[in-house]
Amino acid sequence: MNSRQTVTVARWVTTFGALAGIVLVYRRWLHVNPTTVALTLVLYVLLVAARTSLRYAAAASIAATACYNFYFLPPVGTFTVADPQNWLALLAFLATSVVGSRLSQKARDEADQARVGQRELEVLFTLSRELLQTQNVAELVNALPTLINMAVSAESSTLYLLDGDRMYQSGVQRTTPVEIPHLRQLALTLTAPEVVPRGDVDIPLRAGVRPRGLLRLRDVRLSRETLEAVGGLASIALDRAQALEDVARSEATEESERLRTLILDSITHELRTPLTSIKGATGALLAMDDVVPEARHELLVIIEEEADRLNRLVSRATEMAQIESQEVHMAFAPVNLQEIADEAQESCAWVGAAHPLTVTLPGALKVVADRDMIAKVMCNLLENAAKYSDAGSPIFVSAEEKDGFAVTSVADRGIGISAAEQGLIFDRLYRSQTQRDQTPGTGMGLAISRAIIDAHHGALTVTSQVDHGSVFSFTLPLSE
Ligand code: ADP
Repeated sequence: MNSRQTVTVARWVTTFGALAGIVLVYRRWLHVNPTTVALTLVLYVLLVAARTSLRYAAAASIAATACYNFYFLPPVGTFTVADPQNWLALLAFLATSVVGSRLSQKARDEADQARVGQRELEVLFTLSRELLQTQNVAELVNALPTLINMAVSAESSTLYLLDGDRMYQSGVQRTTPVEIPHLRQLALTLTAPEVVPRGDVDIPLRAGVRPRGLLRLRDVRLSRETLEAVGGLASIALDRAQALEDVARSEATEESERLRTLILDSITHELRTPLTSIKGATGALLAMDDVVPEARHELLVIIEEEADRLNRLVSRATEMAQIESQEVHMAFAPVNLQEIADEAQESCAWVGAAHPLTVTLPGALKVVADRDMIAKVMCNLLENAAKYSDAGSPIFVSAEEKDGFAVTSVADRGIGISAAEQGLIFDRLYRSQTQRDQTPGTGMGLAISRAIIDAHHGALTVTSQVDHGSVFSFTLPLSE
């Protein structure tokens, strides 16, 4: 016997047991008049009606009437009623019992309905809260079947999207790809939830009036209105995530457009200086008929130097633009820091030739990085250390492990950087006021290095003291 059958049997036993008890008490011990018995039995039927369902109350009222007639109405011991007035009492008794049971059944139905309504409201509330937490469409479509499954307690659910004929599922019972044409057909034709036997339901999803897809839920017990609301919520969540993504994309486009204009403006400005010098020098050369060889040489040197500067500027600017627009593909791989340092030393060998260079790296320090890019950063820092310090002054490269990162430092004993400028030197095209006209450079090296380190989820920082030197450090994630 299952638990439902046990409950039914227990209810019948209690219903008739209580009646038998009342009859026994009044027959054996309490000798009261028939009216008192009748009132007690009405109370009994009302109690049965209030605690169980109509069928128990109806059975209880018929049984109570029979017992009342048999045991308490004269002639006692028979089912015949001597006094016709007793017939009336009997009918009133039966009617009161039935009406009472109907009323309490109705009250219980209403309470049940309110409970169901409350549960469905809770379902919608949970679902809307979960759905609104996801901001991005890809994440949302993947999470939606699971969220709906949990909220509506479905056995399984399938989200089908017309866009790309895509299907996302959660739960035990899966919809097979063979059914996709059928789902497409339903998504295009259904205008309201369609409940099929066994509690399976297909809910159309729309974007405005346009069909967007279909939600198939298996084994759910929810009202049609709630199912419609579930479909509405899923559609709104998809619309919202799509709109948020569109806004973010257009903001990003706007920002990159703004950056591009900014870079272009500053580069145009920087290009103008060497161009003006070249133009001036060539103009002078052309204007002078017989130029003295020294003056001619001087002007040609200016032209060559300025052309070199232009060349450096353009290639640095292109490099920066490529890194920022993520056109440069970084090939991250575990690599030993020593290998990177060797490559950097090789590509800017002049630094080692002009300065005593000490490299102290822990042998086993491995990082996850794009080897060539980091070598470029290290080379840039070595060149700066050499450029902004006296020839012959030492340069040190060292590294240590800290909080899952490798911290590499390039230290010099050069001119140093003032506190005010330490925050500016990483900006594009920024060159120190004092060095601008003395040391060749573009003001792009540190900006590029920082962009490369950022792409590695690391940080490039500086500590420096004027006239004492600078230490540039960058962090890189350690390889396991
Ligand atoms: P560049 O060296 O081409 O000017 P960078 O972006 O590499 O461009 O450097 C920006 C500025 O930061 C430099 O012009 C210089 O003023 C300052 N700087 C960089 N490295 C050092 C250093 N090691 N010592 C002193 N100043 C430095």
